[in-house]
Amino acid sequence: MLNGTTAEIKERSALRINPAKTCQPIGAMYAALGIHGCMPHSHGSQGCCSYHRSHLTRHYKDPVIATTSSFTEGSSVFGGMANLNQALENICTIYKPEIVAIHTTCLSEVIGDDIPTIVKKAIEEGKVPSTIKVIHANTPSFVGSHITGFSNMVTAMVKYLCEKTGEPINQVNVIPGFIDPADMREIKRLAKEMGINTLMFPDTSDVLDSPQTGVYEMYPKGGATVAQITSAGDSIGTVALGHFASHPPAIALEEKCGTPSAQLELPIGISATDQLIDALRTFAAVEVPASIVQERGRLLDTISDIGQYLYGKRVAIFGDPDQVIALTQFLVELDMKPVYVITGSQGNHFENRVGEILKEQVPDAKIKQNADLFELHQWIKQEGVDLLMGNTYGKYIARAENIPFVRFGFPILDRIGHRVFPIVAYQGAQRLLDKIIDAFFDKKDREVAEELIELVQ
Ligand code: SF4
Repeated sequence: MLNGTTAEIKERSALRINPAKTCQPIGAMYAALGIHGCMPHSHGSQGCCSYHRSHLTRHYKDPVIATTSSFTEGSSVFGGMANLNQALENICTIYKPEIVAIHTTCLSEVIGDDIPTIVKKAIEEGKVPSTIKVIHANTPSFVGSHITGFSNMVTAMVKYLCEKTGEPINQVNVIPGFIDPADMREIKRLAKEMGINTLMFPDTSDVLDSPQTGVYEMYPKGGATVAQITSAGDSIGTVALGHFASHPPAIALEEKCGTPSAQLELPIGISATDQLIDALRTFAAVEVPASIVQERGRLLDTISDIGQYLYGKRVAIFGDPDQVIALTQFLVELDMKPVYVITGSQGNHFENRVGEILKEQVPDAKIKQNADLFELHQWIKQEGVDLLMGNTYGKYIARAENIPFVRFGFPILDRIGHRVFPIVAYQGAQRLLDKIIDAFFDKKDREVAEELIELVQ
């Protein structure tokens, strides 16, 4: 399909072809699902909501609930107040959530609907019972990406819900970033292993990876409860994972409640996981147990076993900025060479941080924010790579150029492992290594001359 891509690059300033991102409300909807008993509400047309739900469903392989203001031509002209008013009444009477998390879309943002005023009116008219909370985030898709939307919704949780009572609670907040439920579960497992009481929000484990029991539950048992999120202001501290997705809500919590935060990168690879363990250990004043030291040691053992196959390999990476930054760091730890590193999101921190990571080992790497897969493919055509890492959309480039491809990030629409197996922390790094080695050796086994095929690598 992409065989027509040319190596010659023409200057483009107002066109993106296959951007490495998707739209803000998807991130907001995903974050909202990490609150227990929450109904995400999309204030816009039905098409937006259907797309966002189906995109999340295809990645998580679980049903994604959300309601919509169902804009028609009339609401597009006169505004969506009547629709949202009616929607809130219907949601509260039919679906009975504990909280409604409203996000906007391009259309309602262009109209300029004032969500807090509409919600206030609905509450005054008795359409929202006092037992049901309503929060909102502005998520116009003509700026930012799904990561911005995620961050905006988590910041809204802080602004609407978190409180400081003055009675400290022995718990550490973890704002996990836009990662899969399996990754959230793994971070909680590590903290539990250290004997630390954590409050993760949002938390989509047991929501979007819930077991098949034969009984449909609109609100699965997972998710941080409203009461738990409210208590975050009394926690010892906050560990925020990812500059783009998690640092803004951590800063908002610090400003609102004075809760100190450790602003880290996603724990992908060795050094980033070390920093997570260290931050948890410091906040909770505990020792790191031997079991975690052994997990780390097993990862180092794997790396020393296979390092010779990874050394100097040229890699192209694309995806969400926090994930790509963390993966770049991990690949450098493996002595690989991330030569092309892009994200579709905007923010100078991306280019600065990746540049800093690569300045010694790959000083001539091409690093770009607000980038697209078309240009990445052109770079690859000019000078090839040994490995491509990114979401499912990369498979077309991998096929056109016959490059080993490791699926990584969001969305993964054509595989299932991400649903169960984490990529964060020491065990997640083992899985990433396994996938990288499989991709290299599968290609070699397929293509090497018969007389050179090796049984033992
Ligand atoms: S980009 Fe805007 S119009 Fe398109 S699906 Fe997203 S919110 Fe809706």
